[in-house]
Amino acid sequence: MRKILTVLGARPQFIKASVVSHAIATTPGLTEVLVHTGQHFDANMSDVFFAELGMAKPDYFLDIHGGSHGAMTGRMLEAVEKVMLQEKPDVVLVYGDTNSTLAGALAAAKLHIPVAHVEAGLRSFNMAMPEEINRILTDRISHWLFTPTQAASANLQREGYAADKIIEVGDVMYDVALHHGSRVQPGTGLMAQLGLTEKGYVLATIHRQENTDHPQRLAAIVDALTATARTLPVVWPLHPRTRAVLQKAGLLDALASQVKLIEPVGYLDMVQLEKFAALIATDSGGVQKEAFFYQVPCVTLRDETEWVELVQAGWNRLAPPVDAQALQAAMAGALGSRGQDVQPYGVGDAAGRVVNSILNVV
Ligand code: UDP
Repeated sequence: MRKILTVLGARPQFIKASVVSHAIATTPGLTEVLVHTGQHFDANMSDVFFAELGMAKPDYFLDIHGGSHGAMTGRMLEAVEKVMLQEKPDVVLVYGDTNSTLAGALAAAKLHIPVAHVEAGLRSFNMAMPEEINRILTDRISHWLFTPTQAASANLQREGYAADKIIEVGDVMYDVALHHGSRVQPGTGLMAQLGLTEKGYVLATIHRQENTDHPQRLAAIVDALTATARTLPVVWPLHPRTRAVLQKAGLLDALASQVKLIEPVGYLDMVQLEKFAALIATDSGGVQKEAFFYQVPCVTLRDETEWVELVQAGWNRLAPPVDAQALQAAMAGALGSRGQDVQPYGVGDAAGRVVNSILNVV
């Protein structure tokens, strides 16, 4: 029996892991130990995903969150190393680009345990992003680089990685969308509670540090969404970091009178809000792709994106949050638009391909 130890800790990682953990559980000869660092810990940022996506409870919960990036990553490194020494896994599996990803990969590499990185090769070419640092370093010390797209594979080739380390499997989030996307209906549940009608509202999410920690950028986003809300309802599930910053800046109350601010929602509520929106405005990586999966036009409130193929295909427009009027114009321009018929994220078998590749080697 081969043991895979998975390190995860943030919302998008629970969602990505749901399909891969299922593939591990149904593959004879493999067993998984799930280590949750605690980076996201609230019921609505963590537990709800395990419940809705049918995941096993983590075997270890390390309860590490908050503090500076260095402090958080350092505490995780020490704690995950202890678990690895105890569990002696054959492989360590990490996802994406958070501090939990880097801590898991680094602890494993130092113990000479091969690392599998799901969502390898993504680049924003913006080293001011903590995620960019995490993903470059994680790729560097990983044994398997599971890329979601051609662009991600090309990034790794350009950086000089050997071709046999780069395994383009497609995007595990597409697998998740195929499994769960049809479980929601328009007009019921949360949409009914919020008084939203099909294709009659804008969905917004903001949580990247480059937006939350820069008052001018955040103000431009707030002003643009407030202006948009005069013509179409805007619903905005607030990430805890964004809520804290808006509260501190004294912007929360005025915003709440214009925009439907809600707590972070579970995966199925989110899929419902995404699927039946007229437009999505976001700085999330996952939400940009889900907009495309559900054929909803998207405006990305950032200077750049890792998911370049959606911009090229016309499904997504980049709108750097520097000027509220320009943002509002980008949103108005995207309403009702459609991109080209493309399929850049594989065929929905990424999770199985990850597990098969690992199984062939260990
Ligand atoms: N998501 C969710 N509830 C929310 C906001 C997002 O379930 O209130 C889901 C969303 O559908 C996507 C994932 O969380 O699958 C994206 O995570 P996030 O935006 O936190 O991170 P990123 O993708 O930018 O790394």
